[in-house]
Amino acid sequence: MLLVPPQVAPFQPPRRTLLGPGPSDVYPSVLAAQAKPTLGHLDPLFVGMMDEVKALLQYAFQTRNEMTLAVSAPGSAGMEACFVNLVEAGETVIVCRNGVFGERMRQNVERVGAHAVVVDAEWGKPVDPQAVEAALQAHPQARFLAFVHAETSTGVRSDAQALCALAKQYGCLSIVDAVTALGGIELRVDDWGIDAVYSGSQKCLSCVPGLAPLSFSPAAVEKLKARKTPVQSWFLDQTLVMGYWGNANGSKRSYHHTAPVNALYALHESLRLLAAEGLEHAWARHAQQHQLLLAGLTELGIEFLVEESGRLPQLNAVRIPAGVDDAAVRTALLNDYNLEIGAGLGALAGKAWRIGLMGYGARRENVALLLQALAEVLRR
Ligand code: PLP
Repeated sequence: MLLVPPQVAPFQPPRRTLLGPGPSDVYPSVLAAQAKPTLGHLDPLFVGMMDEVKALLQYAFQTRNEMTLAVSAPGSAGMEACFVNLVEAGETVIVCRNGVFGERMRQNVERVGAHAVVVDAEWGKPVDPQAVEAALQAHPQARFLAFVHAETSTGVRSDAQALCALAKQYGCLSIVDAVTALGGIELRVDDWGIDAVYSGSQKCLSCVPGLAPLSFSPAAVEKLKARKTPVQSWFLDQTLVMGYWGNANGSKRSYHHTAPVNALYALHESLRLLAAEGLEHAWARHAQQHQLLLAGLTELGIEFLVEESGRLPQLNAVRIPAGVDDAAVRTALLNDYNLEIGAGLGALAGKAWRIGLMGYGARRENVALLLQALAEVLRR
């Protein structure tokens, strides 16, 4: 006997304004791009578009790295791809932890059978380069330094340039989480000497969720090729994936997995918009909208959690005022204003709100809408 078919209507999501930690509001033309006819994933026209995605990613990351592509899965898969490809069992990795995502890096290191030396910083504070240098000195066998450039759980920016310089100085490869950073704040992969970097499509690129831009430097590729053991994840093995994304010697694409064709149309369009705006303009726009938000929240008596020098313009972590019901405010914003902001994560649960001004979301009208809605809800 067959199961009875469920009776469900077509899903019709409301139009919300997404000002949380991601996904961010998707550009209308990115949504439209995704609805275009699906092509075969080895169709020459699609392959040509993938080449453009690669060139656009190289621009967004500011890198000439040949191994630059989008992993067909969310940011977490970008993180995992770095660790499973580059780190082998028994190796030592210095992991900086100043929030949820640094802790996830540590877990990745442990899962590949490597040894994680954790350099903790207080939640809400950037990674301390002095503490990192002390760890590098104390562990000369370390092969990697891993850290989160823009810690989404706390709204903190760490000094990626200084940390990568330290990694080089001590003979380590750097692994950098740029999930929230890419497109929102300055990030220069080649100039800063970053060896492995990954991001997510759903933050400052304002693309649909589910893709993880990734780039490996020639030194990282060398390390990958010199592995003594095969990458234990077949799907994330970049030596196999690269045959699919193509390389400079123009070798023919071979099937690895079926690319998420329509999601890649979306990524192509969002990266095209970023390139058309220009990185420096995009960084400046995020900074400007952050300043507007800061001024408005200050008027409402709401304080930032992070000191000014370490604040991320695209992810504003603020203290929930005393006596205010966290969940009630977020529910009222969602139900009455169709507006989403983020709750605090981990140690900040119930203590902070996370207000994202990312990509297409980083616009004056969104800041005005949020300030007005928040003032009304708090007044109630
Ligand atoms: N790293 C950081 C800094 C993030 O903010 C996130 C997601 O919020 C991730 C990694 C994981 O990305 P995803 O949720 O797309 O798997």
